[in-house]
Amino acid sequence: MIDLTGMNITMASGKGGTGKTTVAVNFAWFLANAGYPVQYLDCDVEEPNGHIFLKPSIQASFATEVMVPVVDQEKCTSCGECGVKCQFHAIVNLPGDTLIFPGLCHGCGLCSAVCPVGAITEGTREIGIIEKGKGVKEIEFAHGILNVGEAMAVPLIKKVKDERKDPNIHIIDAPPGTSCPVVATLNGSDAVIMVTEPTPFGLHDLTIAIDVAKLLNIPTGVVVNRDQGSYPPLDNYLKANNIPVLAVIPEDADIARHYSQGDMILESLPHYVDTYRSLVTNLEKLLNTHGMRAGRTQS
Ligand code: SF4
Ligand code: SF4
Repeated sequence: MIDLTGMNITMASGKGGTGKTTVAVNFAWFLANAGYPVQYLDCDVEEPNGHIFLKPSIQASFATEVMVPVVDQEKCTSCGECGVKCQFHAIVNLPGDTLIFPGLCHGCGLCSAVCPVGAITEGTREIGIIEKGKGVKEIEFAHGILNVGEAMAVPLIKKVKDERKDPNIHIIDAPPGTSCPVVATLNGSDAVIMVTEPTPFGLHDLTIAIDVAKLLNIPTGVVVNRDQGSYPPLDNYLKANNIPVLAVIPEDADIARHYSQGDMILESLPHYVDTYRSLVTNLEKLLNTHGMRAGRTQS
């Protein structure tokens, strides 16, 4: 096998419900079982569920905060400069009152910089927590849990990624979709494994997700999950775009049953070990094709 240590391998999917986390945790388990140091980082902070399968003992938990401006209404002259400059419409200037909408604020600090009378100071607000520990097979574990109703997922995702430690292989579980949190998760990846299902909806969302990975210049391969035989539109798309299939996992009621029980598929259904062995081999080929080696700078 190629030396994957220190690499950032991100599991992504254009849409939810493709089995991305199942593949991610079993991939982590396979590598750890083969003797690699593995770290699993769950960046799906709105709905993290990797812990259900990796069963970590949580050893540390801490809050993540972002900057939020605080206006001293006594000092404020209602000049309106902060509201004009805020690109996120997080400040509304009313006669005699300047209102901050923390849920819209991106914590850029511009408003405090432009206030001519120093009426804005920098406070903080909590957006979620990070938990970390050790799971099955000694897999290092970290995930973020975004506060309910919180819109600012990106700062929390960056904090989860800050927990990466070498020489582990970093298996990074991305949120579904193609929005800012996905881009923040993909950024700095050595490879992305897109988990898809062979359906029209799956293909539609996969194409958008692969376009994002292309823009970020990240080597990309696909795992076809819940396969029921050939699906020509998917086959044709992958061929036309030179995207390799890294593994094919069939539709299997036993997988669904063990998933619903929080079981690790490779422990419960060990005949799938060969599928994950092929996944690693094909990932190695993908990385070799792109001339990749371990040790990309973290970002
Ligand atoms: S910190 Fe940035 S985003 Fe937040 S209110 Fe000020 S200017 Fe707007
Ligand atoms: S820039 Fe300062 S003084 Fe002007 S409205 Fe904003 S807080 Fe008030």
